[in-house]
Amino acid sequence: MAKTPDDIIRDDIRALSAYHVPASAGMVKLDAMENPYSLPADLQVAIAARIKAAALNRYPDPSAAELKQRLRTVMNIPVGVELVLGNGSDELIQMLALAVAKPGAVMLGVEPSFVMFRMIAGFAGLRFVGVPLTADFSLDADALLDAIRTQQPALVFIAYPNNPTGNLFDADVIARVIAAAPGIVVVDEAYHAFAGASFMPRLAEFPNLLVMRTLSKLGLAGLRLGLLAGRSDWLNHIDKLRLPYNINVLTQCVAVEVLQHEDVLNAQAATIRSERTRVLAALQKLRGVTVFPSDANFILFRVAEAGRVFDGLKQRGILIKNLHGSHPMLADCLRVTVGTPDENARFLEVLTTLC
Ligand code: PMP
Repeated sequence: MAKTPDDIIRDDIRALSAYHVPASAGMVKLDAMENPYSLPADLQVAIAARIKAAALNRYPDPSAAELKQRLRTVMNIPVGVELVLGNGSDELIQMLALAVAKPGAVMLGVEPSFVMFRMIAGFAGLRFVGVPLTADFSLDADALLDAIRTQQPALVFIAYPNNPTGNLFDADVIARVIAAAPGIVVVDEAYHAFAGASFMPRLAEFPNLLVMRTLSKLGLAGLRLGLLAGRSDWLNHIDKLRLPYNINVLTQCVAVEVLQHEDVLNAQAATIRSERTRVLAALQKLRGVTVFPSDANFILFRVAEAGRVFDGLKQRGILIKNLHGSHPMLADCLRVTVGTPDENARFLEVLTTLC
């Protein structure tokens, strides 16, 4: 007799709810940490010329050699460090999880943090251990080191800066975690462009450290390109899990072109950083709003009733992220991405009427 999906699909997968992406057409979109700026017209023309010449009938360069070379320059990848590229850094998290998923293996992270760490651990059959952050969203060094000793995780993820809290953790505590961990520690630097701190220059110091970056927050979220940097003795194995041609022709040729204009990306990131300062200051002045410090392109804040404020903003055409209910430490918390000056002004104007 034919089996039903209930018979065939894994119990843990059937129990999952799909990652929900809300409809955003026509909204001021401040929910997903995207860069709000498009590229200058002359660069758009150069991209169009590359796309016109691209061999869409052929598979892409499987090693993405030219793109890797550009990334090495733009991201200051130390000499001798290996790279693996992913279809977004999400795909790299998945490759890492699959690579270590022996029976009983553990992935360790902090909480609250990027939800895909826990989700992907589940997909790969890893047990996820989440160590709570302290009340001010710092790393709890004792609890972390304790968990590393007792759980012996194969894989540790630390987002630096952290999402959704926005802060940079204490680098000394991260260094102690890397030194104590028996397996791989990935420092996820998705928000590096807005932070001014990195473990990339410290790769040589720690044999078990991998640094992950993405182009998504830099203005190229639509391309889906992430990278993992570290020692070849780890990355040679991770690379075997990469599906052939995971970085498509269009992503390769567009990224190669845009990365030649690093100044454009840097200028946009600088504008976003200065807008962040302005939005932070404005939020701090609002009664009934608690604002958390940010080294990223988004700001976490707490209000009296997150659901009401979120709905009120949405009704007025502004989409942010409601984190209430996602973790006890995020009760009544909302997260807003830093947008253009106009978008931020509109957000603040409407928020003021709701608080
Ligand atoms: N890491 C962190 C900390 C993130 O916040 C995100 C995106 N929200 C990602 C990784 C994934 O980014 P992408 O797959 O777009 O590279």
